[in-house]
Amino acid sequence: MDHVAGLDDLRPLIFAQKLPMQLWATDRVEKRLREQFAYAFSARRYPGAPEFELKRIETGTEFTIGDQVWIPILGQHGTWPVLGYRIGNIVYLTDVSGMHKHEQDKIRGAEVLVVNALRKTPHITHFSLDEAVEFARETEVPNVYFTHISHQMGLHDEVNAELPIGMSLAYDGLKLTT
Ligand SMILES: [Zn+2]
Repeated sequence: MDHVAGLDDLRPLIFAQKLPMQLWATDRVEKRLREQFAYAFSARRYPGAPEFELKRIETGTEFTIGDQVWIPILGQHGTWPVLGYRIGNIVYLTDVSGMHKHEQDKIRGAEVLVVNALRKTPHITHFSLDEAVEFARETEVPNVYFTHISHQMGLHDEVNAELPIGMSLAYDGLKLTT
């Protein structure tokens, strides 16, 4: 819910671009979106409802948006599957608490890794900071940013000062290039 609750608020952007907004999702996620935002997907759509164009992601199959190739990377979010992505030299993973080695191989050689670190204490469906640092070390990616951070993490500068070289907390407005 924390990742899709804002879909309705995309309406001004959808109206401005005068095109439906593409939503890329696996079959499982698409089903949930159709339930959660039924008014946006009904056959007789309410005027003013957001207009979406659903695009299918198959786990394990790369896809192209514009001129960028997206490689899905399967992680575990507790007992649920969750997809992260490699786009060029950047890997973005959120809501991960574990990953099989063969999926981790898709991260190797990247320049930048963005991965979730919820807080310092353990959590059942998200990496703690120590777990995220250990995961990032295993990937050997040189530039690591932690995201999906809870208010329980502590203060930005203080936590940053404790992190290994090449690793830092991400922040609003951070820009990365592929
Ligand atoms: Zn989340």
